[in-house]
Amino acid sequence: MKKWITMIRKFSHRRRKGASTIEFVIILPLFFVLCMVVWQFVITGMAVMDTQAALRDAVKVAATTGNVEKAEKLGKESFGDSTQYVLDDFEVEIKDGEAFAKAKTQVPILFMTTEPYTYENSSKAPVLEFAQGHTGPMSGGKFARPVNLAYGCDIHCYDGHTGQDFPGDIGTDVYAAEDGYVEKVVHLGDDSYGTYIVIDHGGGIKTLYAHMYPWQPTVFTGERVKRGQKIGGVGNNGNSSGPHLHFEVKVNGSPVDPRPYIE
Ligand SMILES: [Zn+2]
Repeated sequence: MKKWITMIRKFSHRRRKGASTIEFVIILPLFFVLCMVVWQFVITGMAVMDTQAALRDAVKVAATTGNVEKAEKLGKESFGDSTQYVLDDFEVEIKDGEAFAKAKTQVPILFMTTEPYTYENSSKAPVLEFAQGHTGPMSGGKFARPVNLAYGCDIHCYDGHTGQDFPGDIGTDVYAAEDGYVEKVVHLGDDSYGTYIVIDHGGGIKTLYAHMYPWQPTVFTGERVKRGQKIGGVGNNGNSSGPHLHFEVKVNGSPVDPRPYIE
């Protein structure tokens, strides 16, 4: 054992003595090349992850909303904004009930953009049944009437009114205006809305049904609903002076006049 240690010591001592030239001529350039290779791996890895995130998000949006343009936009946003590599080609389409996204990403090789490495990938998912054949405003159509009652106080009725009212008897059936996901069912949880339901129809469009008869909504948060499906009954709670349905249409988070959206 001792013999070995002495030998190693001697060897390393000998190497140290004349090492300066070798270090500068071979080891330093080698180290530099190694750094470049590591940089290349990191940049390529980041580009691949960014591309996959863009594909995944785009397909998810396209499959759940049926909206190709929105999917493309959100996918590109997921790609991030690296200055090192570029998303050269990004396409989303829905064909035969499947959402499909493909991307091409150009990654420079060792800082040189002349001959970039091209990373190509694609992703697909079946489009949810409800996202197909939308008849509502997200595909240029109209909402079904949320309740079979005459129009009451509208969005311009008084300052701060954010929807359309339909006065009627307690318990009158309330229907989903269009296919979608139930985003929220709140029981007597709000001073103004009282018991209310929010349905997300995709494409940035949501509907809200307020002052609902408490504890009787027939849908649950996260549930998928169909156009015209009963979701509960008219009530009189929250900021309400008489039984009515307060119906809101929100486009990208802001309430709009629901009248032009209703059949
Ligand atoms: Zn109202």
